[in-house]
Amino acid sequence: MDFQSIIARRRDGEKHTQEELIFLAKGAADGSVPDYQLTAWLMAAFLNPLNAEETAWLTLAMADSGDRIDLSGIPKPWVDKHSTGGVGDKTSMVLLPLLAACGLTVVKMSGRGLGITGGTVDKLGAIPGFRLDLSPSEMKAQAAKIGLALTGQTPDLAPADKTLYALRDATTTVGSVPLIVSSILSKKLAGGAETVVLDVKCGKGGFMPTVDGATSLADSLAKTGKLCGLNIRIAITDMDQPLGSAVGNAVEVREALRVLKGEQSRFSHLCVELAALTLEASGLQPDRESGRKAAFEALKSGAAASKAQAWFFAQGATVDVLEQPEAMPIAPVRVEVKHEGQPAWIAGLDAKEVGLAVVALGGGRQKKDSVIDLAVGVELHGEIGDKLETGQTMFVVHASTEEKARVAIAQIESAYLLSDTAVPHLDPILRIL
Ligand code: URA
Repeated sequence: MDFQSIIARRRDGEKHTQEELIFLAKGAADGSVPDYQLTAWLMAAFLNPLNAEETAWLTLAMADSGDRIDLSGIPKPWVDKHSTGGVGDKTSMVLLPLLAACGLTVVKMSGRGLGITGGTVDKLGAIPGFRLDLSPSEMKAQAAKIGLALTGQTPDLAPADKTLYALRDATTTVGSVPLIVSSILSKKLAGGAETVVLDVKCGKGGFMPTVDGATSLADSLAKTGKLCGLNIRIAITDMDQPLGSAVGNAVEVREALRVLKGEQSRFSHLCVELAALTLEASGLQPDRESGRKAAFEALKSGAAASKAQAWFFAQGATVDVLEQPEAMPIAPVRVEVKHEGQPAWIAGLDAKEVGLAVVALGGGRQKKDSVIDLAVGVELHGEIGDKLETGQTMFVVHASTEEKARVAIAQIESAYLLSDTAVPHLDPILRIL
C-alpha cells in the first residue's frame, strides 16, 4: 500500500478503507511509515475529521498495533477508567483500589502529565519503589492475585498511539475529537477491560473548556466505544476549579491516601459517584444507589485502604506510604498564605492559573523531556462556596526555593475571585451519559 495516496485521500476529504487505517497504525507502531508522512496525515485528519466508522476502524487498528491483555480466567467484571485529565485530578489513586475492594477486576494503562493536567504515572512515581512498567503478563498475574494492576505507557500496548500522540503534541493536532477518541479507546481495548468508565473533564483546567466541546467528545467516545464492543459509561465533570485540595505530585498522593482512610470532601464525593457508576455499569450492583452504598462501605471499613496497600506493595513499593506518607518527597520551602481582608466567600478559583503555577514550580512538564520535581505543589484550604475568615490560611505552597514560592504565590492569589456575599458549593458532576 502506498502511504502518499492515503495522505491524499484524507487531504481531499475522501473516506478511508479499514485496510488503509490498519496500514497506518502498523506503520506508526513499527516505524515503517516515516514521521513526516504521519504528521502530514495527522494535519489532514485534523482539517478533514474522520467519520464515526473510520474512527472505530482507527481505534481497533491502534489497539491491535501491539499486544492486547487477555484477562480470560480472571474473575469478571473487568473494568477500566480514564480521565481526559485536569488540575488536581488524582481520582485514579482512590477509585482503582476502591473498585477492586468492591469486587471488580481493574486493569489500567495510565499516562504521564503534560502541560497543566497532571498524570497518574507521575504521581505514583512519588511512592518509593513503585513500578510503572509492568509487562502484559505481569499485569495479568497481578490482576489475578489482587484484582488490580496499572502500568504506564509501554512499547507492548497500543504502540501506534505512543508515536501518534507524540507527533500530535508537536504539531498542534491534539485537539481533534476523532484523534482523541481513538487515542483513549485504543489503550482501553489493549488493556483488556470490557466495561470502561470515562471522566470527561470540562473547564479551564482541562483541554475541553466548554460544555459543548466536552459533550461532543463524550458523544463520540460513547459511539466509538459501542462500535468497538466496549460497555461504556461517561461522566462529564467540572474542571473550572482544581479537583480536591492538593495540586502537585506527592501532595496529591497524600490527599488520595487521606480519602482512602475516610476523609470526606467534594473530591471524595466524585470518587464515590464514579465508583457507583462503574459498579452499576459492570452489572455487579443493580443500580447507582447500591453502588454508592458499596463504595461508602469499602471506604468506611478500611477495605479500600487495605487494597491500596496491597496494590502498592504488589507493584514494588518499598515503604508503606499509608502509614508513612512523609516517606514521599517533601519540598524544602513551605509558605503558608493567609486571607488578609474582610471575611469573604470563594466565588472563583481558576484551575488553569493554579495548574500553571504548579508547572512553574517544577511539578509539571514545560517540555516533553523535562524532569519534574515530585515534592512541589500547592494545598488549597477552601473551594468555591467556602467562607474565608480574616487570618485563615488560604493556601500553602511547597517549593524548591523561596524565589519560586514567591512567583507561585502571586499567580495563585490571582486565581481567586472573592465575594462578600455567600456563594453556593458546586457539584463536580455536570452530566452522566
Ligand atoms: N488522553 C489521551 O490518552 N489521548 C488524547 O489524545 C487525549 C487525552
